[in-house]
Amino acid sequence: MHDLNNQSQTQVLRDSFGRVVNNLRISVTDRCNFRCRYCMPEEGMVWLDKSELLNYEEIVRLAHIFADLGVTKVRLTGGEPLMRKDLYLLVEKIARIGEITDLALTTNGFFLAEQASSLFKAGLRRINISLDSLDAAKFKLMTRRDYYEKVWQGIEAVESLGIRPIKLNVVLIRGVNDDEIPKFAQLARMKSYVVRFIEFMPIGSDDGWTIEQVVPSSEVIRTMERAVGKKLIPLEYHGSQPADRYRFEDGPGEIGFISSVSEPFCDHCNRVRITSDGKLRTCLFSIDETDLKSLLRSGAPDEDIKASIVNAVWKKEEGHLINRPGFVRPSRTMSQIGG
Ligand code: SAM
Ligand code: SF4
Repeated sequence: MHDLNNQSQTQVLRDSFGRVVNNLRISVTDRCNFRCRYCMPEEGMVWLDKSELLNYEEIVRLAHIFADLGVTKVRLTGGEPLMRKDLYLLVEKIARIGEITDLALTTNGFFLAEQASSLFKAGLRRINISLDSLDAAKFKLMTRRDYYEKVWQGIEAVESLGIRPIKLNVVLIRGVNDDEIPKFAQLARMKSYVVRFIEFMPIGSDDGWTIEQVVPSSEVIRTMERAVGKKLIPLEYHGSQPADRYRFEDGPGEIGFISSVSEPFCDHCNRVRITSDGKLRTCLFSIDETDLKSLLRSGAPDEDIKASIVNAVWKKEEGHLINRPGFVRPSRTMSQIGG
């Protein structure tokens, strides 16, 4: 039988398939000022009441508990995490946890021009910014907001602080923004950005996902190489990184592919997530969740919370079943889970 005591002594979170979990995504809010078409419906989102969100004290306590269990990487996400205007206060506290050696943020970039400096001072050094188009009108079509310029102001603010690398997350939807693949290739040749293509995934109930709309990474590579007239050079693979990384021989940037649909990386998955209302999800596509918030708010000691986490991680799903019989879409949207 699985020995919980032994596991917490060795400070490793392991699942029943032998994968070690050391990577935690924490969603700090389900709210967002964008309405990206692949993430949430245009109308009718119902937000959690503020009292349902974990407060910073609760998040920091969980971060310490996960660090005790061997987590070294934390990413703050949402919803739009910078909707919490004082996020730097949380960053400051998590950055001080010695075991957490890698603290990152995923943001739509809208509030970065105002907040980048305080986030940097608080200790944040890694930022991913979502940018689905290099054209203002197309950006509006993808995000349902006319905020292209504002996002670029945010990117420039991060750049001027010297934060590197700047990773730009791009979700391609066939027939909508896949014509921009060559432009993204040029961007990675001209600038030292890491352009990361994330395959469109079926999450939530209203994103209109069909497999035909997914642009597989292999196709993006072919399109890029044809457009640029040069081969992409593969970069070394590091452990459990989800992205396959490439560069052009004549550019400072990098291209990454997160091929969750066409080439799932579940065998190496080292992640779990906490939703903004304090539910632990062991897979993006989990149907079950473990309610950590109730434990926190009922006065449970750290040891009980640890035991609950260890148990949940042990049952981590072998992998997602997108495109296979038996696939069940999570009913929560990506913004409600924490992407
Ligand atoms: N609001 C922030 C942002 O957009 O960067 C953070 C949260 S967002 C849910 C995190 C990431 O999930 C973004 O890069 C977004 O592009 C991606 N995402 C959302 N819905 C997706 C979907 N259906 N398929 C693939 N990626 C998705
Ligand atoms: Fe908001 Fe990010 Fe979802 Fe876009 S992807 S709607 S920015 S949470």
